Amino acid sequence: MLIDAHCHLANLSSKYQMPSLLDEAQIYGVNRYLSNALTNEEVRIYQGLSDPRVKFSAGVHPNFEECTLQVEDIARLAEQKQIWAVGEIGLDRYGPPLPEQQALFEEQLQIAADFQLPVVLHIVGYQTEAWQIMRKYPLRYLLHGYAGSVPAFETFAGCENLWYTISERVLRLDKTELLQAMVDSGKYLFETDITAQYAQHNELNPLLRLVVLASRVEQFSGISYDELTRVQADNYLQLLGVSS
Ligand SMILES: [Zn+2]
Repeated sequence: MLIDAHCHLANLSSKYQMPSLLDEAQIYGVNRYLSNALTNEEVRIYQGLSDPRVKFSAGVHPNFEECTLQVEDIARLAEQKQIWAVGEIGLDRYGPPLPEQQALFEEQLQIAADFQLPVVLHIVGYQTEAWQIMRKYPLRYLLHGYAGSVPAFETFAGCENLWYTISERVLRLDKTELLQAMVDSGKYLFETDITAQYAQHNELNPLLRLVVLASRVEQFSGISYDELTRVQADNYLQLLGVSS
């Protein structure tokens, strides 16, 4: 079982027929998705899709202008048990003034705490600031798409209930040290972060990028594909709070 631990399937569905895409990816072993909603329209798409392979989270993104969700929407979705997590939320050095972002981040962490939900983190820069806030909320965290410094990563990775995704971003040559640290920590999942915009013009099924990604990590690390798959499946269950 391969899990795409961060993707935007509602967004992707503007270009593709989702059920057939999911069915094909399943043949290649990808059969769970932790997907994200950033707009009310995307929430409606997930509700309509209602596929047991797809769980979605929702959050007010720190730096995405098209995000139409409000904090009240997140609280309502959490209360209705529609979302598996709050997020993606966090801090972004390219976003609005920091105090504004910190307040929004903390407000949504409180929702996660109130409803005992995990949190999907988007952290670009401001790692120390994010960590200061997160420490106050002992929740389960998924740090998505991280490609920052190794020391900051090690701070996060020291947190017991924090997992992270390995993405294409860390397969670059200048990120080798970070990828090695991620593999060594053993708390990884894999993600495509796929959106309609990221899909290539003639790409038949962008969900299959996950299989390519895992194969490249196998080549890089010397850890077998089976072992990588076993570890990420185990991490998935822990993140969801299904086992410990
Ligand atoms: Zn994303």
